[in-house]
Amino acid sequence: MKYFSTRNPNEIVNSAEAIITGLAPDGGLFVPDSIPTPDTTGWEKLTYPELAGEVLPHLLPDFDKEFLKTAAEEVYGKAFAGKAGYTTKIKDNMYALELWHGPTCAFKDYALQYMPRMLVEAKKIMGRTETTRFLVATSGDTGKAALEGYKDLEGIEIRVFFPDDGTSEIQRLQMATQRGNNVGVYAVEGTFDVCQRGIKTAFNDKEIAAQLKERNIALSSANSINWGRLVPQVVYYFYSYYRLVEGENLPVGTVVDFCVPSGNFGDVLAGYYAKQMGLPVGRFIVAVNDNNSLSDFINTGVFDSTRTFHKTSSPSMDVLVPSNLERLLYHACGDTEKVKGWMKELAETGKYTVDEETLATIRKDFVADWTNEEQCAEIIGRYNDEYGYFADTHTAVALYVAEKFEGERPMVVLSTASPYKFPRAVLAALGKEAPKSDFDAIDMLEEYSGVTAPTSLTELKGMEERFTGVITSETIQKIAIE
Ligand SMILES: *Cc1c(COP(=O)(O)O)cnc(C)c1O
Repeated sequence: MKYFSTRNPNEIVNSAEAIITGLAPDGGLFVPDSIPTPDTTGWEKLTYPELAGEVLPHLLPDFDKEFLKTAAEEVYGKAFAGKAGYTTKIKDNMYALELWHGPTCAFKDYALQYMPRMLVEAKKIMGRTETTRFLVATSGDTGKAALEGYKDLEGIEIRVFFPDDGTSEIQRLQMATQRGNNVGVYAVEGTFDVCQRGIKTAFNDKEIAAQLKERNIALSSANSINWGRLVPQVVYYFYSYYRLVEGENLPVGTVVDFCVPSGNFGDVLAGYYAKQMGLPVGRFIVAVNDNNSLSDFINTGVFDSTRTFHKTSSPSMDVLVPSNLERLLYHACGDTEKVKGWMKELAETGKYTVDEETLATIRKDFVADWTNEEQCAEIIGRYNDEYGYFADTHTAVALYVAEKFEGERPMVVLSTASPYKFPRAVLAALGKEAPKSDFDAIDMLEEYSGVTAPTSLTELKGMEERFTGVITSETIQKIAIE
C-alpha cells in the first residue's frame, strides 16, 4: 500500500513519509492507492484500544504492528478515561457517538493524542533526524488538541494560528495559556480560511523550505490535510457501529447511517475510509452551518466558495474551503489530472464544477444539508428537554440535519465537542441571557443541565495567559522561518 498526491500519481510515498511530509510537495493531499478490506471477524468484542490496534496496522503498513498496538493502549486507555468511542442512545434509532471525553474536550484529541507517537516513529523508520516544525491553522479545536499532543516532545516544534475573534473565549484561553517549551500561539487578523491559506503558502514556498533545511528544520502539518490525522479517526466509526448493533440486538452486518458535523471534511472522510474497509454504512449525512459551500456542492456538483463568510456559534465548522474534499474528489473520479484542474480553478476563481459521473459517485455515499443559527439554537433546548441529551452547538447542527434524514435505518450522530467549550453560545441558544464571562456561563449551564463541566476547562479560570499578540496573515510566513 502506497500513497500518492491527489494531483500527481508519480508523487509516491509510503505511510511514514506521508505523515512526516503532511502536504504533498505539489500542493496535493496524499491518498492511499488502495484501501484494504480486512477480516473483521470478532472485532465487535474488542475494547477501543484493542480495536484501534487491529484497524490501524491496515492503514499504516510501514509501522510495526506491536508499536501501533502499544500506542493505542497508552492513548485510548488513559487519556480518554475509559470513555473512548462512548456511544449512547438519544432516542429510537438515533445514537450519539460522544467524541469529547479526551483532554481538550473535542473529537480532535483522537487523532492528535495518537499522531505525535506516529510521527516520532515515522521519523525513526525513515532515519530522519531533522527538527519537525508544525504549522497549524485552527478554528479553535485543532490548535489546542495539537498543542497538548506535541508539547515538550523532542525534535518537534509547534506554531498555532487561529482567527482573532473567531473562537470561543474558552477555546482562546485553552491556547493562550498553553505550557511547553516548544510551542508558539498566534491570533491572526482574519478568518480560519485566511490562516489556512497562510500556512499553505508557507508550505509551498521553496525559499522557506531551503532556508529551514540549512538549519535542519522541516515543516509539517498537523491539520487534517495530514494522513496521520485521518487514520486514527477511522477506528471510532467501527467501534461505535459495534456498540449500536449490540445495544439494539441487531446482527453485525446491519446497515447504519452516520451524520457528521463538518468543517474541513476530515472527520466524515475518515468514516468514508471505514466504509471502504467494509463497515456496513448506508450513507454519510454531512451537516454544515451557514457556511454551506460543502452541502451545496454535494447537492449540485458546483463548488463555490465565493460567498459571505458567516461567524457562527459553531466556529470549528466555519470553513468555506474544506481541504479534505480534494481527497474525496480523487476517490470519486480516480483521475489526478481532473483533480488538479479543479484545484487550479478553485485557486484562481474560488469555484469549480465537477462532471455528472463524479457527482453521482459522491452521492452514492454522501448526502448533505445545512442548519442556520436559529434552528441550531432550537435543537439544543429541545434535545435537552425531550431526550435529556445535552448537545453543544456543533453537535446541534448535526442533530438538526439528522432529523431531516431520519428513516428506517439506525443512525449515529457524531457529538464532536463538550457543550462547555462554547458555554455562552449554548446559553444563548437556550434563550438565556449569557453573562460576559464564559466561566459564569459554565456555572449557569451546570445548573441547567445537571451535567458537570470537565475540570480541564474550569481550571482555565485564573490561569496566566502566555500568548496575547495579534498578527497579520502576512506575518505567518515570517514566523514559519523564524
Ligand atoms: C473540527 C470540528 C468539526 C469539523 O470537523 P472536520 O473534520 O473539520 O470536518 C466539528 N465539530 C467540532 C467540535 C470540531 O472541533
